[in-house]
Amino acid sequence: MADQTIATRCVQAGYTPGDGEPRQIPIVQSTTFKYATSEHMGQLFDLEAEGYFYTRLQNPTNDAVAAKIAALEGGAAAMLTSSGQAANFFALFNICEASSHVVASSAIYGGTYNLIAHTMAKMGIESTFVSPECTPEELEAAFRPNTRAVFGETIANPALDVLDIERFAKAAHDHGVPLIVDNTFPTPVFCRPIEWGADIVTHSTTKYMDGHGVGVGGAIVDSGNFDWMAHAEKFPGLTTPDESYHGIVYAEKFGQAGAFITKATSQLMRDLGSIQSPQNAFYLNMGLESLHVRMPQHFKNGLAVAEFLEKSDKVTSVRFPHLPSDPYYALAQKYLPEGGSGVVSFELAGGRAAAEKFMAALRLAAIETHVADARTCCLHPASATHRQMNDDELAAAGISPAMVRFSCGLEGTEDLIADIEQALAAI
Ligand SMILES: *Cc1c(COP(=O)(O)O)cnc(C)c1O
Repeated sequence: MADQTIATRCVQAGYTPGDGEPRQIPIVQSTTFKYATSEHMGQLFDLEAEGYFYTRLQNPTNDAVAAKIAALEGGAAAMLTSSGQAANFFALFNICEASSHVVASSAIYGGTYNLIAHTMAKMGIESTFVSPECTPEELEAAFRPNTRAVFGETIANPALDVLDIERFAKAAHDHGVPLIVDNTFPTPVFCRPIEWGADIVTHSTTKYMDGHGVGVGGAIVDSGNFDWMAHAEKFPGLTTPDESYHGIVYAEKFGQAGAFITKATSQLMRDLGSIQSPQNAFYLNMGLESLHVRMPQHFKNGLAVAEFLEKSDKVTSVRFPHLPSDPYYALAQKYLPEGGSGVVSFELAGGRAAAEKFMAALRLAAIETHVADARTCCLHPASATHRQMNDDELAAAGISPAMVRFSCGLEGTEDLIADIEQALAAI
């Protein structure tokens, strides 16, 4: 598998049928699984034997799709979750508890910001946000003795800042904690954060991986590279007996490569129950089969739209990491040499009112709380995804009230440009 191209992994990884078995991944639409003896069932409950017993914990359809995503990211193990929010929460909560602390980039998705800054704070998990461009001193000062993870997004939604993955990974590792990277926007087609030192990768599969606006979902991939035992005192959940599982020590029993995902499945999924439905996992796999074909077209449209907007006098600024004028151009060239995403953000000269007028005049592009779909869509973050933030928080996340987030779909490039041209004329 390691020597296969991303294209082949998109199409083939995760499921290899035997003779006479279904060519496409079967949708195992069953809550439960049957066994002949209680003894066998008991071994499954003790994690002594491998097998399925209840879909809240594991399901064969989900496992096949998770295995494909692990192969795409170059990870050791992966799991699906019901949403991207659940993926990020599980990835953090698997190693954090009350009195822990998280260092996070301030340029992240609004929902993840709320999760870390507000909801996890109510659980006693503290956080410090740093700008992705912070100085080495600022980054160093963000860490505390109780820091348990560093979190960032490869390309931030919607600010489009590019994370310096190597730099954040080094800072995390210098403090004995893992780097978790949400890789939703570039997908493993354009960036594989594990290759740059990230330890855990998360996804909102709702976006490009699904790609057709069909199913909300998430995924967590563990690289298997983080040595939990070397920092055992920081991660007791992985390195000391789990009383809710007959005293299993995950990092001992399942090793460095298996501990993180096994714990997240057998403990968090068991107790919090955020499984992806097998039906949605099947749809997700259909999306993954063409991910490597779709991403270049999303990117091509994004670049063309960004270049067009940059020339308009009704637009004051355009953000697209692959524009030479973009502040993150150098990082994009390093981490995303073949492309990033189809998302462009820009500010209109007339502020909030102009943004609303522009969006109302669009014909092809629809106003949606969505991004990364086959159909072009756009959003005004200040009045939608980020409306819980005050002006200071908006500024820290890189969002102005005049900003429009424009997600280029798979339509013909000329048609998208023509739609934008007539909408700009209507302002
Ligand atoms: C959408 C998104 C999420 C949340 O995912 P859901 O599937 O909507 O729960 C998390 N991170 C990023 C970068 C996103 O774009």
